Amino acid sequence: MKVFEKFKNFKDSLAKTKEALSEKINSIFSFTKLEPADLDRLEEALVLSDISFQTANEIVEGIKKRVSNIKGIGPEGQRKLTEVSVRLGQQGALTGDIIKNALKDEIKSKISRDFPGINIKNEKNIFLIVGVNGVGKTTTVGKLGKYYADRGKKVIIAACDTFRAAGKEQLEAWGNKTGIEVVSGKENQDPASVAHDAVQKLKDKDFNLLIIDTAGRLHNKKHLMEELSKIKRIISKTNGRPPDETFIVIDASLGQNSLVQVEQFKELIDISGVIITKLDGSAKGGIIIDVIHKLNLPVRFIGTGESPDKISEFSPEIFADSLF
Ligand code: GDP
Repeated sequence: MKVFEKFKNFKDSLAKTKEALSEKINSIFSFTKLEPADLDRLEEALVLSDISFQTANEIVEGIKKRVSNIKGIGPEGQRKLTEVSVRLGQQGALTGDIIKNALKDEIKSKISRDFPGINIKNEKNIFLIVGVNGVGKTTTVGKLGKYYADRGKKVIIAACDTFRAAGKEQLEAWGNKTGIEVVSGKENQDPASVAHDAVQKLKDKDFNLLIIDTAGRLHNKKHLMEELSKIKRIISKTNGRPPDETFIVIDASLGQNSLVQVEQFKELIDISGVIITKLDGSAKGGIIIDVIHKLNLPVRFIGTGESPDKISEFSPEIFADSLF
C-alpha cells in the first residue's frame, strides 16, 4: 500500500493545530535577538495547543540541551545560551530555524516509542472499542470497519451499547452505508450476550475481524466496569483469548480533559491503544504528545472528519513534520 494512502487526510487534519502553533512560534522567532522570555513564550505556545505544562517544560529544557550541543555555536554562544540571550542570524549563532528544528526533533523524540504494530495478525481478530459517549466512538467503529474492509479484511461490527436505541440504529446505518454486517441485540439485552453472538459469528463464518462498539456511561463507573469485564470474559471464553486490541476513542477538541478520560478508563479495563477523533476541527492536537509521552500508549488512528473515509493511521514522523 502506498504510504500516502495510509496517511491520507492526516496532514490536512492537523491544519488547525499547525496554524495555531506555528503562528505563535513564528512570531516568537521573528526577532533578531532571542530574549530569555522567548523560551517562556514558546512554552506558553505549547501549552496553548494543549500540551501539558510538564511536557511543555520538558520540551523547552530539551531544546536548550539540543542547541547547546550544536557544533559551531562555540563557547561564547553556549554561554549566551545558558543565559538564554543569543543573537539570531549571525554566523555561528543560533537562528530561529535552529530552534524550530530542535523543537521538531524534541517533539519527535517524545512521541517515538518502540510500540509493537497493531495486533491483527491472527486469523480471527477482535477489537474492543471503548470511550465516553459523544466522543465519536460509533462513528469510529463504522469508519474502522470500512478501513479494514478496504484493505481486504472480512469485517463484522457489533453494537454492544444496548441501552441506547440510537446507538444500535446508528451502527446499523453505518453498516448500510459501508456494506458491513452488523450484529445487534434488542434494546436492554445484556451487552455481553450480543458480544457472544458476534464472536460466535466471527468464528463460524468467513470473517476475520470483529469490531465491538460498547457503552460509554462513565458516570456509573461500577456498572460500566462490570459490563466491560463481562464482555471481555465472554470474548476470552468464546475466542480463547482476550480482545487483540482495546482501543479507547477520545475527542481532540476536549484537549487535556481527554487525557483524564483515558486515565479513568484505564482503571476499568486494559487499554492497548488510542484513537483520536475530530482532529479536523480542533487546534488541540498537542494532546497527542501527552497521550504517548505521559500515558505511554500508542496512538493508532486519527479521525479526520465525519464521512466513512475520514480515518487515517497515525505516524509520529508525519505528525511532527506536519506541525511546522
Ligand atoms: P459516540 O456517542 O461516542 O458513539 O459518538 P458518535 O459516533 O455518535 O459521534 C458524535 C458526533 O461526532 C457525530 O456528530 C459524529 O459525526 C462526530 N464525529 C465523529 N468522529 C468525527 C471526526 O473525526 N471528525 C468530525 N468532524 N466529527 C466527528
